[in-house]
This record gives sequence, structure tokens and C-alpha cells, in this order.
Amino acid sequence: MNIHEYQAKELFASYGIPIKAFRLVTEPGQLAQAAQELGGETIVKAQVLTGGRGKAGGVKYAKTAEEAVKYGQDILNLTIKGFPVEKIILTEAADIKKEFYAGFITNRGTRAVTLMLSKAGGMDIEDLAVNSPEEILKIDFFARTGPDEDLYEAALKDIFRTQTHIAQARDILDKLYRLFLEKDCSLTEINPLSIVDDDTLVAIDAKMSFDDNALFRHPEIQALENPEESSQDEKDAREAGLSFVSLDGDIGCIVNGAGLAMATLDLIKLAGGEPANFLDVGGSSNPNKVVSALKIIISNPNVKAILINIFGGITRCDDIAKGLLMAREQIQLDLPLVIRLVGTNQDEGRALLEKAGLQAFDGLSESVEKVVALATSEGGRQ
Ligand code: GDP
Ligand code: MN
Repeated sequence: MNIHEYQAKELFASYGIPIKAFRLVTEPGQLAQAAQELGGETIVKAQVLTGGRGKAGGVKYAKTAEEAVKYGQDILNLTIKGFPVEKIILTEAADIKKEFYAGFITNRGTRAVTLMLSKAGGMDIEDLAVNSPEEILKIDFFARTGPDEDLYEAALKDIFRTQTHIAQARDILDKLYRLFLEKDCSLTEINPLSIVDDDTLVAIDAKMSFDDNALFRHPEIQALENPEESSQDEKDAREAGLSFVSLDGDIGCIVNGAGLAMATLDLIKLAGGEPANFLDVGGSSNPNKVVSALKIIISNPNVKAILINIFGGITRCDDIAKGLLMAREQIQLDLPLVIRLVGTNQDEGRALLEKAGLQAFDGLSESVEKVVALATSEGGRQ
């Protein structure tokens, strides 16, 4: 889960990480008062769940309250990378002397937490990583132990140079890491972390992402969720207890187990097809989950054919078959369906399906080929 800059800055402030004062604005009518309260020069910033707002015209420097009102109105009318701007902040403008990058990420590649620091802050970190990787200093470490003290000190010295900035950076980074750890983040990032007018370091921007699987431990973070982050089918899936990710293709997938679901997507791609989703009905045996899964999949107008791939262990094939038959009673299912059903109680499951005129396959490859053919042929929904 991602949150807005203003939400991240509130968390930063609660951990003692220095930020500039700001006001959240959702209606143009609130702009004048916000600008007046802050006084002086302000920065008007779109609050959208995507980066690169600056380049998209979503960050503007206002010299006067009148300018702040005008820019605020303009930005509230923008759509940035598909996100309509519904909230903005006005923040005290900083006189920036130097911009750094600082962030902690959960690094799947190195199976560690990685501290990233750069003197080239303010730029797109993804671009920087591709075009000038030597500009980013990285330290991998175990979450429990924290970064190696000598490496950490040397990095801070290399990046921040003077004793006062090194000490300030250390304090900010220690707090940023405590926040990362205590809130189960996958990312906490300050870009830019800037030396400003009075020679202190301030977080000019703030970005945080959280591990969805740990949100149950943090109701206060869960409460920060923004509805625009998930698609409707992702929300429905979460409510139904299904592990679901929306994709761009046209083959709906219902699979039991995350590993088998991943393998199924790979096989569909290999056969020339495009999956419309990842969906894991889980290891439990619950016909209602199959009903929910089918409802979610057919609500996607791109889907032309559906593959159900069940390798029953704890999941019983007869329960899956019951779910399918229940779904056929509750919803109009006019999409071609390819069912692969093997494992626990497969004979009982297949008997149920056959009675209803449905055939189940044994082999995974043949099922995948069949569904790909159906999705690309006249047989699928156009
Ligand atoms: P992003 O483009 O979405 O990453 O938004 P940022 O909050 O990082 O702002 C983009 C850029 O605007 C920063 O890199 C700064 O150069 C500039 N900027 C943001 N806030 C201030 C400010 O208070 N003063 C000055 N001088 N520049 C700012
Ligand atoms: Mn930024």
C-alpha cells in the first residue's frame, strides 16, 4: 500500500524527521486561507499516488498568496499519470542549497534491507539507477541488526561531508529506519532531502509504501489507505479473502495456490496468451470462494475465456465443482470455460461437473493451449 506525501510527512513529523509546515487543501475555496496561514512563499504540490509530479506540472513555486491560489486551482484540475488531482498541499517554500536522496527499501534481489544514499537527489531515482548507478551508494543489511556501523559512517561522510550535516543526516536516517521497521514498510524515501536556508537538512518530499501482508498489525496505517489505489475488482477480491492482482490480458484465471498460479500465468504467456489476472483461491475448501472468484473475473470486460486450474491437496475437487455449479446458478456465465481438475476427490468433482454437462481436463499444457485458443478465436467473447 502506498500513501500520499502529506500522510507520509505526518508520520515523519511524529518520528521527529524535519519537514516544512504544510496545509492540505481539497477545495479551491480553502486555498486563500491556507496560503495566508503559511505566509510568504509557498510550494503548491499535487497529492497523487505516483512519482514525477514535478515534471508533470504538479509542483509549483508561488511567490505570493495570489499565485498560490492560482496554481492551486490549476493543479486541482490536472490529471497526473491517470490520477485526477483531488488533494493538494501548500507548503512553506524552502531555499534549497543542495538536494540529496535517502531511502530504505526491502530489497528482494539481495534479500536484505538496502539503505540508498545519493548526492544527486531531486532526480528520478529510477532514471538515476539506470543511467548513473555509480551515483547511488547502497548498503545491504539485516533488518534486525541495522547497517554495519563502519560502512554507515563512511557513507554518511562521503555523501554529507561536513560534521553538522553528517550528524543531522544520521539522526534523520536513524529515525527514518525506525519508521521503516516499526510500520513494516517496503519503502521509506526522502527525495530530495535538502540542505535549506538555515543550513539544516529537511525532508522536502516523502514517500512510503507498506507491506500489505503486515497491515493487520497497523490499523492506524490501514486507515490511511486511499480508495484510488485499488481497482474495484481488487477491492472485491480482498473482501472475499482472495489473493488477486489485476493484469492487462484477456484470460481470466482461477488457481489454487500462489505458486501454481504463477506457473499458470507463465504457461499462458508461453502459449501466446495474456492473463487477465492472478487469482489464488487459497488452500481452503470453500465453494463460495469459487463463486466470488468467477464473479470478479466476469466483471472484467476484457476477459474472453476462463481457465480454472486446480491441483487439489487440501482443496477438494468436489468443493471446487460445487462452487462452479453454484456460480452457474447465480450468475450468467456465457464465457468459455476450461477446467483442469486433479487431486483430492477428483472423481467426485468430475462426476458433479459431468452431470451438469461440463468436462474437466487432466493435463495442464492441454488446458492452457485450449484456453489460449478460445481467447483468440471466435469462440471467446468479442
Ligand atoms: P516529485 O517530482 O513528485 O518527486 O516532487 P518533489 O516534492 O520531490 O518536488 C520536485 C522538485 O521541486 C524538487 O526536487 C525540488 O527541486 C523542487 N521543490 C520542491 N519543494 C521545494 C521547495 O520548498 N523549494 C524549492 N526551491 N524547490 C522545491
Ligand atoms: Mn520527489
